[in-house]
Amino acid sequence: MPAPPGVAYINREFVPIENAKISVLDWGFLHSDATYDVVHVWKGRFFRLDAHIDRFLESAKRIHLSLPVGRTELERILAECTARSGHDDAYVEMILTRGVSSAFSRDPRDAVNQLICFAIPFGWILKPEQREEGLLVAISDIQRIPAESVDPRVKNYHWLDFVMGLYDAFERGAGSVILKDGSGNLTEGPGFNIFVVKDGRIATPDRGVLEGITRRTVLEIAGELDIRVEQRTVSAEDLLGADEAFATSTAGGVMPVTRVNGSSVADGKMGPITKQLIETYWAKHSDPSWSVGVSEVLSR
Ligand SMILES: *Cc1c(COP(=O)(O)O)cnc(C)c1O
Repeated sequence: MPAPPGVAYINREFVPIENAKISVLDWGFLHSDATYDVVHVWKGRFFRLDAHIDRFLESAKRIHLSLPVGRTELERILAECTARSGHDDAYVEMILTRGVSSAFSRDPRDAVNQLICFAIPFGWILKPEQREEGLLVAISDIQRIPAESVDPRVKNYHWLDFVMGLYDAFERGAGSVILKDGSGNLTEGPGFNIFVVKDGRIATPDRGVLEGITRRTVLEIAGELDIRVEQRTVSAEDLLGADEAFATSTAGGVMPVTRVNGSSVADGKMGPITKQLIETYWAKHSDPSWSVGVSEVLSR
């Protein structure tokens, strides 16, 4: 399959995405030793760029990686990839890998950290016809990698738990998966956070998850709309008995979850609170307090 058209920044150069290649000796490839972030551009504007950069820098610090460029330069690189790609709606990723260490040293401190960025067309987790219909998920018995082992607040590529969970879900007729923690509470899915709505109140897991920017956005929007929100443990029973459920991700925004383990969530249709959140979420994309034009970043 041809790569989606896009532009990457690698080895301090902007190149067509198909020419962006890393060494097989990069720790990022050999050991999933990397952190990353994804921000999207909608109608030519980055959405919550500051929040994504903050999280990326914080993630890097937590795992002893250092960025070869400063914040302003990073923002310019992301804007440049996007502008060169020509996409008005783009999925823009920044990756910092441990890099290659000389003479195949086993000491991570010997590796030269590598920054890679790219912009490709905006990608949805759900296909257009599924956006109204919603996500069909299964709750897997595969446990999420414990937070004590790999800090889930650092956006990472330790995805074998999710990928094995996906196979489990596909076998059960679902399209995606949610993993539980060691206490049996829900955590998250491959690239998305999860929310339940019951009696007009929203809840989302408070631990063992990546603190998603879309998750944070929903919590803030709910506050503006005077909807009660709670960050707490969320059980499988909470989800199975919810009035509404939805997932959040930069790749797709707020997405209804309409079936869990083969049963409908309530009547199996997108709920009113989910619908209101989706509308407000997209309306916020032109609000200058939460978005910035790609060309504006380039002219800074
Ligand atoms: C990226 C990601 C999310 C969603 O975070 P956003 O910032 O909203 O895109 C949730 N969970 C995991 C594991 C992720 O990698």
